[in-house]
Amino acid sequence: MKEVDCMIDVNQVTGGYSNEPIIKDVSLNVLKYEFFGIIGPNGSGKTTLAKLLSALLPVQTGAIQLAGRPLSEYAPKELARLMAVLPQHSSQTFSYTVYETVSLGRYAHQKGFFNSFTQEDEEIVQDVMRQTGVVDYQHAKLDELSGGERQRVYLAQALAQKPAILLLDEPTNHLDLAYQKDLLDVLKRWTLENKLTVISIFHDLNLAGLYCDRLLLLKNGQNIICDKPDEVLKKERLECVYGTKIEKNPHPKVPKPQIMLVPEQLSRAIEPEEIGPHLLKHIDDMIWLQTPTPMKTMSSSVTGAGLGWYRHFVNRHVDKGYDCSDHRAEMKRYLIEKGLDPNDTAGMMTAVHLEQAASGLFEGDGFSVFVMVTAGVGNALDVTQGEQHVKAYTPGTINTWVLVNGDMRDESFIQAIVTATEAKTKALREMAVMDQLTGNVATGTSTDSILIAATQKGTVLEFAGPIAPLGQVVARGVYECTIQALKNDRNWRHDS
Ligand code: ADP
Repeated sequence: MKEVDCMIDVNQVTGGYSNEPIIKDVSLNVLKYEFFGIIGPNGSGKTTLAKLLSALLPVQTGAIQLAGRPLSEYAPKELARLMAVLPQHSSQTFSYTVYETVSLGRYAHQKGFFNSFTQEDEEIVQDVMRQTGVVDYQHAKLDELSGGERQRVYLAQALAQKPAILLLDEPTNHLDLAYQKDLLDVLKRWTLENKLTVISIFHDLNLAGLYCDRLLLLKNGQNIICDKPDEVLKKERLECVYGTKIEKNPHPKVPKPQIMLVPEQLSRAIEPEEIGPHLLKHIDDMIWLQTPTPMKTMSSSVTGAGLGWYRHFVNRHVDKGYDCSDHRAEMKRYLIEKGLDPNDTAGMMTAVHLEQAASGLFEGDGFSVFVMVTAGVGNALDVTQGEQHVKAYTPGTINTWVLVNGDMRDESFIQAIVTATEAKTKALREMAVMDQLTGNVATGTSTDSILIAATQKGTVLEFAGPIAPLGQVVARGVYECTIQALKNDRNWRHDS
């Protein structure tokens, strides 16, 4: 790292209150214009480190340099021009107006004995009030504002200092979701546009991961790791440092990790009821399966598509002439009419008559798989000849449910989809289902749907490829049920 890139250099610093060292031998660098986060459990020394960085506490051993100069050489007013501090609790009086409070931020820049507020000061105050969204209530008194609004006023005051460094102690504490985002968005924007270096203490690891360029993880006053969020926020590391179980997932929209807690009551391994044929009901025009607890589900259903947790599984019969411009909205209305919550239901449609469904419970070693298939093959095609099938969608589809009594990993969900699809294709070949247009053996239909769900209790099922124990059972179950469903479909058409 070039020295010019470094805004703060902490070199083997030990310090704390009186002679008791809280921060022990900590070294780190904060780069210019970086958004730098400090995280760690309660009492790990985050606030103490922030006090050492802002010279509120003296360094016992080691050295801190700010912008290339030893911190100890800065006069108080000089330091105030370079660094603004936003503490967790402000002791400022609430009888000032917003405008007056923000204007106080200019104090460190005023020169001479008779401090005068210049036109430039006024412009800066107006600008930061606009950017932090407090300009509309600039004439209100602080005690007339909500906690979140007040926090933004203090941020505006700190930014009015036009500091090179802004030090914050849990700035989003007590703020609601929108205020948290707004405040952190402002800070991030200032690092990108206004050459501001931000160092902030975070309690919320997800926010820290989302906004910070790098994170310092403290424990017992020591630097555990200082690196990019993805590296710092490793599951095993956090479990060890915070002493609790966590789960980690990617954020759905941006490439950042999200940390989740698992409540004790929900993680307790209760003896689950086996999901099987006894739960399957035919009601009117739908096959409905309700599970005692939600199942983790990956599917291409009409409702509940993608990854989610569901307690209701529906395969609904629609007439061959079913044509709806918005089938998702129509399906939701249908489920609500049936008394089912669309947010708790993975729901599919088929033109197949539901009496033709084939299902079975297939046993593995320490787990079992319940499979249900409905197979209409009016749309059957060879997957490599899709471009020849230009005609509009006609109902006729293979819907496959694979409900696993076991604890599946993410990759085994995906492997189960592959294995089930291959087993389905093999069944179509075995039953000589043809692509009517090309005369080839069909591999599926143009509108097949699949659903893999797991209780996430009991035996851990890491893989579901064809030779893995789960894969073998999924393949057998889907193959046998698809063959049976195809036979049922033939018999039905033969009879009718
Ligand atoms: P964090 O911000 O990570 O929660 P702190 O830096 O506030 O941790 O506290 C670290 C340790 O310093 C704690 O053990 C705490 O008891 C101690 N401590 C905090 N403030 C003081 C103080 N004013 N005097 C003496 N010890 C303190």
